Amino acid sequence: MFNKSHLMEMLDEGKQSTPLYYYDMELLRSTLNAVKQEIAGEPFVVHYAVKANGNPVILKEIQRSGLGADLVSGNEIVAAAEAGFAPSMMAYAGVGKTDREIEIGVDKGIYCFNVESEPEMEVINEIATRMGKTAGIAIRVNPDIDAHTHRYITTGTVANKFGIDLPRLDDAVDLALSLPHLHLRGLHFHIGSQVTTMQPYALLCDRINHLLDHYEQRGVNFEMIDAGGGLGIDYGNPDDNPIAAFHDFFQVFKRGLNLRPGQKVHFELGRSIVAQCGSLISKVVFVKENSAKRFVILDAGMTDLIRPALYTSHHKIENLTSQEQESVAYDVVGPICESSDVFAHDELLPVTRRGDVVAIRSAGAYGESMASRYNMRSLPSSVFSH
Ligand SMILES: *Cc1c(COP(=O)(O)O)cnc(C)c1O
Repeated sequence: MFNKSHLMEMLDEGKQSTPLYYYDMELLRSTLNAVKQEIAGEPFVVHYAVKANGNPVILKEIQRSGLGADLVSGNEIVAAAEAGFAPSMMAYAGVGKTDREIEIGVDKGIYCFNVESEPEMEVINEIATRMGKTAGIAIRVNPDIDAHTHRYITTGTVANKFGIDLPRLDDAVDLALSLPHLHLRGLHFHIGSQVTTMQPYALLCDRINHLLDHYEQRGVNFEMIDAGGGLGIDYGNPDDNPIAAFHDFFQVFKRGLNLRPGQKVHFELGRSIVAQCGSLISKVVFVKENSAKRFVILDAGMTDLIRPALYTSHHKIENLTSQEQESVAYDVVGPICESSDVFAHDELLPVTRRGDVVAIRSAGAYGESMASRYNMRSLPSSVFSH
């Protein structure tokens, strides 16, 4: 699916320099179509989690496909609006929304603030009152489910900062209902990221059903439930599995949820929409050996793609230019002055030389959006297939 020749043409003509992100827009469109196929005819609404990749070209493509936007900062609200997302298709989550960010959301009239604490509810109510508006909210519930993913990206257990935990939820719902400038739309969940088995989602359905029954008995009905995102992708085999397991994912919710009439389910997918369409393209600056190892040193580093350094994650690496038949194990590293600036240990690559071009695959999510200027480096540029 990855369009090598188009990319090499651009590099050869000197129109682009590395490191850069290359996005396969055809794959992005097929991915969006796969999502739309799975939710057709269901009371399901999918919001794209913009923090995975906020590149304006990517945002525009996703907006055109009809998805909504899941946002985590005031600047993301503004960027989503610029890309054409309607405020009625925007949800805004985050444990530390500032007054200014809340004002942006209230002013735009976004569909929903996913609130993470009682103090936040009171502040949103205050700001909405001052602005003469009503703010739609959902309460983010910490369902205490272990998503069995990396500890930095599990979000749904009581050990982490997100949401309101189950013992306090009744009080939080009562508070939301008592605040006159809030409109409580539903409950929100997000258990973690890069979730690769469906069992945590099945557990989540049980929790949600239980809560729907519980609140129905107390006379509270929700117009929607937001089940969050987190669906993982296959980092090991991007060519065999370019599209995430959307069928299995949505099937769990179709089967597992006991929805009330008219009730909708929202989802917030980030990684599974954009990860596979992006590759980080880099040139080999040097190949060096010491007594123990061979190193391939790239012009891309952790400032361009921080996932390996931050979560010890592994991305498939391909040498796009080597004609060699023989393979050698290399440590593939970046140029940054940090020992964690390593893309892979003992990666088998064809014999690699200075000037070769490599692709670090599955880098469309949490790649470009997490890039930094550490070491005063330039931010990576981006190139798009047609
Ligand atoms: C990051 C995030 C998502 C998206 O997670 P993915 O793993 O990229 O699907 C969804 N909802 C919330 C609240 C998030 O913070």
